[in-house]
Amino acid sequence: MSFAGKTAVVTGGSRGLGRAVCRLLAAEGANVVFCYAGNAAAAQETVRELEALGAQVRAVQADISDPSAVKLLMDTAIRDFGRIDILVNNAGITRDGLAMTMKETDFDAVIATNLKGVFLCMKAAARIMLRQKYGRIVSISSVVGVHGNAGQINYAASKAGVIGMTKSLAKELAAKGVTVNAVAPGFIETDMTAALPETARTALLATIPQARLGAPEDVAQAVAFLAGDGASYITGQVLGVDGGMGM
Ligand code: NAP
Repeated sequence: MSFAGKTAVVTGGSRGLGRAVCRLLAAEGANVVFCYAGNAAAAQETVRELEALGAQVRAVQADISDPSAVKLLMDTAIRDFGRIDILVNNAGITRDGLAMTMKETDFDAVIATNLKGVFLCMKAAARIMLRQKYGRIVSISSVVGVHGNAGQINYAASKAGVIGMTKSLAKELAAKGVTVNAVAPGFIETDMTAALPETARTALLATIPQARLGAPEDVAQAVAFLAGDGASYITGQVLGVDGGMGM
């Protein structure tokens, strides 16, 4: 797998899965432009790690739910590298709560980042990829988007929506050299899951056939596969990376 000469845009590259994706693409030779919401120290750590691998990297503070911020992100990639070969829609948030008591603001916040943000990035990058007649779009959904989860009605809706958008855009771009796929991780060890109480972690672990949590690198490998030339005949698919949880 080589990404030499390719340029990747990764949303939410400052931490967790996004940082692991940036690291793997950079290690395989890609130029990486990533965005983050506000954690500048974490973003700088990602920059340091990628530069240590010899990669060209740009970090952009950009809220993906804001169209002008998405434009800044894509413009940075075009200005500095001339093209966008790969878009990884990774940035995402949770605002968990039971449906009966969930605040509308928590529903709206998750949809704004996880669904509308992905749409805005897909739309902006697809325009460039169509001109290039080449592109790879990989979005991070979730096992929760396929099977649902109590306490995550907003998050499940957003991640199911990502799958719907993936299949729709894949159909629109299939004949134009652009593939569009999704990865649906299960329970991966990051800041997002570290916030779960011990009882919830133990209960979740019991639902994973491989009886272990995943690592960010497990997801990065699947993303890199779908972003690579070896996956050129794969589009509109959802690849589970979940230790068997989604079986
Ligand atoms: P994380 O550790 O909480 O990191 C989230 C990343 O997204 C950070 O880089 C954050 O930036 C960025 N971000 C959040 N909101 C943003 C916004 N509006 N605009 C731009 N960037 C934003 O999350 P993670 O666990 O790595 O999850 C990454 C993706 O995988 C998410 O889409 C998540 O839903 C999905 N996923 C995770 C798991 C899991 O078990 N961890 C399972 C299935 C799916 P800052 O650092 O600046 O805050």
